[in-house]
Amino acid sequence: MTALLLKVLGKDKLPRFFDILKNHGSVFAPVKHGEKNHSFQKVDSMEKVELNYNRTMISPKKMFIAPEETIFTFDKKKEIYIEPEESSEKLVMFGVHPCDLHALNLLAKVFLEEFTDTLYSSRRDRTLIVGISCSPDDFCFCKSTGTSFASEGFELFLHDIGEKYLVRVGSPKGLRIISENPDLFTELGDNDLDQFKAVENERMNSFKKSIEMAGLQDMLDLSYDSQIWKEYGDRCLGCGSCNMVCPRCRCYDVQDNIDLNLTTGERVRRWYSCMLQDHGLVAGGHNFRPSAYERIRNRFNCKGSLREDMPNCVGCGRCSVYCPADIDFLEIMSKIRGESQ
Ligand code: SF4
Ligand code: SF4
Repeated sequence: MTALLLKVLGKDKLPRFFDILKNHGSVFAPVKHGEKNHSFQKVDSMEKVELNYNRTMISPKKMFIAPEETIFTFDKKKEIYIEPEESSEKLVMFGVHPCDLHALNLLAKVFLEEFTDTLYSSRRDRTLIVGISCSPDDFCFCKSTGTSFASEGFELFLHDIGEKYLVRVGSPKGLRIISENPDLFTELGDNDLDQFKAVENERMNSFKKSIEMAGLQDMLDLSYDSQIWKEYGDRCLGCGSCNMVCPRCRCYDVQDNIDLNLTTGERVRRWYSCMLQDHGLVAGGHNFRPSAYERIRNRFNCKGSLREDMPNCVGCGRCSVYCPADIDFLEIMSKIRGESQ
């Protein structure tokens, strides 16, 4: 980090900062729903934004991969495939937590590196991301998945250090915002760096939950026939919520809806869940994972594995918070390790 890439922003200047973000597109930020839920919603003023939140139920991935959308329409006779015209609306994601940034970084690898998903690519290109620091609650364990601090995948990142934010710059776009608003973003004061380090240390020491990732894949292999899967499979309702809320899950289903003329139609993509009964169903009627215990075992084996050297779980705690059967992710993983049989 150089002094050029590190600034401070007074909290009293947040409304003005928000107005600047509005110049870069429609702003989506965490908004409170009911007692304890938050979701990323389109907002037009800072008053509606709640930056001090634990987690949104649905992660920011919804901005890049829609829960359900037509990916092309077709006409078999004319052999025409037409991708829907993608909106050119500029977007701003304001207030994204480090764990969700890590999840987005992996999604970008999946959707952009080997085959470029044009929808994902277009949305990412026209989205400006501003990250925000957070404090762990009883379900967070991102420190132990190495995802509690984000170094890339954002334009600007705001660290709450009391009366002001320490601002890290993550991209040329972010640097431009800083350069164009010198009255808003000021140089660091004498104690700002020390304050930042003190706050970070306090945050890192306040995690109550953790997971040991080293050797977890092997432990899961060794537990393939464990009764643990049957125990939790019996409790699982097969609702798929754990996958729907997971920022790292990226399975989708593809369905062709063919018109009555049997010639034209559309191909639809929608989020899909490996916890649903028909996820392993293939042509001919064979199901690779017909029972709940096989599906839960499959999901945990996926989550305990690495992809591109990154864990498939970013420690956000959503799947435990929102499971209607109170199935706790860390409870299962610690049983797999033999820690709390
Ligand atoms: S959210 Fe809970 S009950 Fe629903 S599929 Fe996942 S583990 Fe099973
Ligand atoms: S597996 Fe659970 S804790 Fe891990 S990233 Fe997904 S929702 Fe979050």
